[in-house]
Amino acid sequence: MDFDVLVVGGGFAGLSAATSLAQQGKKVLVLEKKPHLGGRAYSFTDPKTGHEIDNGQHLFIGAYVETRKFLSRIGSSSLLRFSDQLKLHFRDSSGKEDLLSAPRLLSSPLDFSWGVLNLKGLSLKEKIAVSRVVQEVKKFKADKNYAAQIEPLTIRQWLDKLGQTPNVQERLWEPLAIGILNENAKIASALGLLQALEKILSKTPIDAAKTGYSKVGLSSLYTRQASSYLQKHSGAVLYSSKIQSLIYENERVCGVNLEDGRQFRASYVLLTLPPWDLKRLNIPERIQKNLQAFSTSPIIGLSLWLDRSITENETTGLIQTRFHWAFNKNSIWNIPGPGQYLSLVISAAHDELKKEPQEILEIAKKELLVFPEFKKAKMIHWRLIKEPFATPSPKPGLEEMRPFPGEVSPGLFLAGDWTRTGLPATIESAVLSGHKAAEAVFNE
Ligand SMILES: Cc1cc2nc3c(=O)[nH]c(=O)nc-3n(C[C@H](O)[C@H](O)[C@H](O)COP(=O)(O)OP(=O)(O)OC[C@H]3O[C@@H](n4cnc5c(N)ncnc54)[C@H](O)[C@@H]3O)c2cc1C
Repeated sequence: MDFDVLVVGGGFAGLSAATSLAQQGKKVLVLEKKPHLGGRAYSFTDPKTGHEIDNGQHLFIGAYVETRKFLSRIGSSSLLRFSDQLKLHFRDSSGKEDLLSAPRLLSSPLDFSWGVLNLKGLSLKEKIAVSRVVQEVKKFKADKNYAAQIEPLTIRQWLDKLGQTPNVQERLWEPLAIGILNENAKIASALGLLQALEKILSKTPIDAAKTGYSKVGLSSLYTRQASSYLQKHSGAVLYSSKIQSLIYENERVCGVNLEDGRQFRASYVLLTLPPWDLKRLNIPERIQKNLQAFSTSPIIGLSLWLDRSITENETTGLIQTRFHWAFNKNSIWNIPGPGQYLSLVISAAHDELKKEPQEILEIAKKELLVFPEFKKAKMIHWRLIKEPFATPSPKPGLEEMRPFPGEVSPGLFLAGDWTRTGLPATIESAVLSGHKAAEAVFNE
């Protein structure tokens, strides 16, 4: 069968691009090296409990406009649920609780400011100082060239400059920054946080700062649906199909060679591989040399099943601990008690990556004592997933190295969360890049 476009990689970027192209009448073949779709956002069934496990809890926000467009195209938007109000619980290492929340009727960006004003862990002076960050976001919104001044600074340096005390950084900015950017405030460029805050503080059909959860395991949210959408639109997906090199004719890319010797040809090739896979291919030198600048930041996810519930809250940000977030899967997936299924996350897990799973479990057992009920709880089962290549580490200087999604040489197109979308490397960035690259193919 002849295809118009070969899309390499079956994650959010590849599937959003492929379905967008198919919607516009192109015949698309998706080539994925793994035996399943989903890339860095997938799920599988745990044989012991029968529950779905995500490779790491993924959080959506109302500002994920392109993601919702993609999910609605493939018929899965009803599988994403948004909170009806901004509500994020926090707990520090002494067990002290705090809450970033706003009344239901308050929409973005007022809900965030309201939430900050009501945080118990910040002094009035610190709350007033938060408005200086909000002013910076407005400045950035009005003048995108402002990015060049902010990008060389780390988050820590930028927040220090804006008079944010260590306390407000620890209790507000750092949990948000590490959750969004998957990197420490001492390492990550401030630009990513600024880009995210611009979205969080904007108005969207669903309020920008409200959190969203998949009602099902990640793979059940979009991979099957995207694959059947493609089949219905004269497209196809090939699994276990690893691309080894590009085929060039008269300096135009016209196909791909697979590791197993198969060859596919088409008018356009769209690569959606992350930088660490892309650099193995014979891509143009101009792109290849920039890829050396990309290092990775890991995420560790620990799924834990307890004999009793230790928290009613859907999401708890953990402060002054190694684990950053505790997600209550009973509440997110409506799983009946009496036990509890928790999903715990360590972002930027550079140090923990080297540790044995049992050692990481012991850290969790100590840190979960901030929930008083945990003392009485019995652990029934646990499962740890290390994602060493979770996201690129967004260090100062990296923005310049991100190619724009779209055509990079004749016949060759790029997309992926790491391309220059104006967003940090997230699902929304992946889908936005997929949509932009599809548009570029279509306008060729
Ligand atoms: C544990 C974890 C938690 C996260 N949490 C969040 C979150 O809460 N919110 C959020 O927005 N984002 C989150 N992210 C980031 C998000 O998952 C990614 O930004 C997004 O999935 C990237 O999609 P992508 O399509 O750009 O890349 P990928 O998903 O990496 O897709 C690329 C695909 O290409 C395939 N491939 C690679 N090489 C080849 C080859 N040679 N031939 C054929 N195929 C190949 C890969 O197998 C893969 O399927 C998280 C990531 C992880 C790992």
